[in-house]
Amino acid sequence: KPIACDVLVIGAGAAGLMCALTAGQRGRMVQVIDHANKVGKKILMSGGGRCNFTNTGTTPANFLSANPHFCKSALARYTPWHFIEMVERHGIAYHEKELGQLFCDISSKQIVRMLMDECQAAGVQVRTDCGVTKVERGSDGFHVTTAQGQFHAASLVVATGGLSIPSLGASGFGYELARQFGHEVLPTRAGLVPLTLSGKHQERFNDRSGVALPITARCNDVAFSNSMLITHRGISGPAILQISSFWQPGDDLRLDLLPGQDAEGWLRAMKRDRGAAELRTVLSEVLPRRLALRLCEHWLPDRPVKQIDEPQLREAAALLQGFPLVASGTEGYRTAEVTLGGVDTRKVSSSTFESQLVPGLHFVGEVLDVTGWLGGYNFQWAWASGHAAGQVV
Ligand code: FAD
Repeated sequence: KPIACDVLVIGAGAAGLMCALTAGQRGRMVQVIDHANKVGKKILMSGGGRCNFTNTGTTPANFLSANPHFCKSALARYTPWHFIEMVERHGIAYHEKELGQLFCDISSKQIVRMLMDECQAAGVQVRTDCGVTKVERGSDGFHVTTAQGQFHAASLVVATGGLSIPSLGASGFGYELARQFGHEVLPTRAGLVPLTLSGKHQERFNDRSGVALPITARCNDVAFSNSMLITHRGISGPAILQISSFWQPGDDLRLDLLPGQDAEGWLRAMKRDRGAAELRTVLSEVLPRRLALRLCEHWLPDRPVKQIDEPQLREAAALLQGFPLVASGTEGYRTAEVTLGGVDTRKVSSSTFESQLVPGLHFVGEVLDVTGWLGGYNFQWAWASGHAAGQVV
């Protein structure tokens, strides 16, 4: 005999649990199923185990989508302050790290516990180890065949997330289901992901792994200022993760290694005041020494600064403030925090998250073509979209 409910949510991650608890609070009979052996694995892993659960500065401008207006309604109706209210009600201590990013003081486990407690209080049933084998729609709703039997529900919510980090339960299931019901899925690619180098840049930076510095990364008219880290595979760190969502192979990527400074003016001052010093010496005072040495070996004039003529000085300053890094690709879904692209939002209601093609079918969270910047925006999208759907299913 099928398990009957009002709402079946597939995916017990951030968006699915938020949708479920919101619908449960309205008195709906809700079942949540997940194929993984644990709920909220990405929440647990997030923010280095402390979950950057929101960003107090969230605006629609912090999201990438082929349809930039789509996210506005839900974000306006469920703000970071709504989520913070729940966090405080559950006594979870948190702090702001930088730029409005809120993290748990103790552990991201507290966020999963909070969501599960809210689900339980709202009578929501959550099942793990429950993979889905078939989804059909009849005149009386959705019939879903799973590892734990048949489910029958009037509303079906797809909250299965994106493709990032398959080892945490990510799958393309949501995209396949969307296609099954006639939805378009926009091409997906890894976002918020380290970039890889090849050729000369790989050879020249390979042995500098561990070097970290503040930079501004620029690509396609977008710029992010934060730190960068050289790794043995390429480059990472917040500034690079941010720009990775805007970069595609072949795009021009520039790194300002002296952000907020006037490299030309600084070099002239060095020429005037420290003319006998080698460039590598003075550069090591403003950049990590291992990086300064490598730059002087291959790209900059390796001599006393007084011997650097005006054209060379301008060239050196331009290189320091717009280093043309040739990335060969990204590390891919294995290490990406998010998936760009996904279910085309143009056939989904931005207020109810219901499919405009199939009544009763909803998509929430990262499975949709809405991707946030680094810094708590992706969870805020999961909460806001889950909440919006939870109010109507
Ligand atoms: P998910 O949270 O991924 O949940 C999807 C759920 O669906 C999973 O439980 C999965 O097991 C289940 N599922 C998948 N396929 C199936 C299937 N076939 N059948 C049944 N169930 C299925 N964002 C932030 O805002 N702040 C952070 O600090 C942050 N840190 C991150 C760190 C890491 C390492 C990663 C990978 C991501 C991080 N993110 C962060 C991004 C954030 O985790 C996601 O954007 C967010 O979890 C998306 O929520 P979701 O509910 O849509 O999907």
